[in-house]
Amino acid sequence: RYYLSRIAQLKHLNAFLEVFEEEALARARDLDTRIRSGQPVGPLAGVVVGIKDVICYKGHNVSAASNILEGFTSLFSATAVERLLAADAIIIGNLNCDEFAMGSTNENSAYGPVLNALDTTRVPGGSSGGSAVAVQADLCHVSLGSDTGGSVRQPADFCGIVGLKPTYGRISRHGLIAYASSFDQIGIFGKEIADVAAVLQVIAGPDEFDSTAAQKEIPDYQQHLGHNKTFKFAYLRDALYHEGLDAEMKDAYIDLFENLVSTGHAVTGRGFEYIDYIVPAYYVLTTAEASSNLSRYDGVKFGHRTLERNLELTDFYKKSRSEGFGKEVKRRILLGTFVLSAGYYDAYYTKAQQVRRIVTEKLNEILEEFDAILMPTVPSTAFKLGEKTDDPIAMYLADIYTVLANLAGVPAISVPLSRHSNGMPFGVQIITKKFDEAALLQIAHQLM
Ligand code: GLN
Repeated sequence: RYYLSRIAQLKHLNAFLEVFEEEALARARDLDTRIRSGQPVGPLAGVVVGIKDVICYKGHNVSAASNILEGFTSLFSATAVERLLAADAIIIGNLNCDEFAMGSTNENSAYGPVLNALDTTRVPGGSSGGSAVAVQADLCHVSLGSDTGGSVRQPADFCGIVGLKPTYGRISRHGLIAYASSFDQIGIFGKEIADVAAVLQVIAGPDEFDSTAAQKEIPDYQQHLGHNKTFKFAYLRDALYHEGLDAEMKDAYIDLFENLVSTGHAVTGRGFEYIDYIVPAYYVLTTAEASSNLSRYDGVKFGHRTLERNLELTDFYKKSRSEGFGKEVKRRILLGTFVLSAGYYDAYYTKAQQVRRIVTEKLNEILEEFDAILMPTVPSTAFKLGEKTDDPIAMYLADIYTVLANLAGVPAISVPLSRHSNGMPFGVQIITKKFDEAALLQIAHQLM
């Protein structure tokens, strides 16, 4: 009831697309009865969770914030959702986001932008903006988002909370609406590392419905939190001294590194001259995958269908898709189709695959040598609403620090670091080796 009343009070933030009020209350009452009568309950009993509207929950609407899926109801639940429910969490509603998770500000939603609760003239970040604001503004305890190129870490940074993108394959993608399948990963928002760790514990692990979900065992994430250790950190000089990074923020990272050294940790700079290639490689590969993934929305199988009659089949597809998709999604389908087309494939797609491989190898070399890499999450604090909507390239370039972890498939987390003189928070990003979320969470816990 507390969260439901907050949601009603803060409706203008536009974080929720739908609230499952009756159902959430019924689950809460049922749990209450079970606890009072001494029956066992799951590890997330009573934890109130919001889910990004790209994650399927059986019997509930899922739209990916797109008109093309208006009125579509999930036929099954995502594995992550099944596991949350089995752990006795309470799912309170669907959260707003950029259409098909494409964006960095939540301004690409068919249901309007989400507002940053700390300053409603600013964006919350994206694409999981609703998921970030729901936790930031205390509309639910934790939330799920998806992170293809930063969509959990970047809004967490803009909103002053914690956002985790696990290793590619750590959490099943079954029931997650695909944007770019070799990058997509469900991520978790919370205010405390312990909360994020508890949710990861429940939803991670192998899944017969997703062949890319890793078979690896899940360690006890909470066990190591609070055991203080000294670490060997690296930072990437080409990231820290990049011209795009806000000067005040750069100073804050240098201060952090000095503080870490003075408390016994080692912090070493490493070169990473590939930094300017990662955003182009990311956008070539993700738009290519998106153009293929989104071909299923043809107006026949599900979602929006044009009302126009007597069209030839191809015209029917074109009309339905033109009406259903928003501008940014169309831009990406066109880009992706272009880079995959005969004659351009080798120049763009193959080249970007090569960049991905080199960047991954170089990053892994550094991660073998150090416990973790520390870097900014985003080069600036939250943008003003509308500030970058006319300049997609500027918007894409702001993803410079987040897309690296998705290209390489490694886990990364953003934790709050400081506040800018403009009043907005910003975070620091921690990256570790594949499947080393235990160390990632431990370090994050120590830094907070
Ligand atoms: N901002 C990035 C993009 O627009 C990341 C999106 C995401 O992680 N889903 O692609």
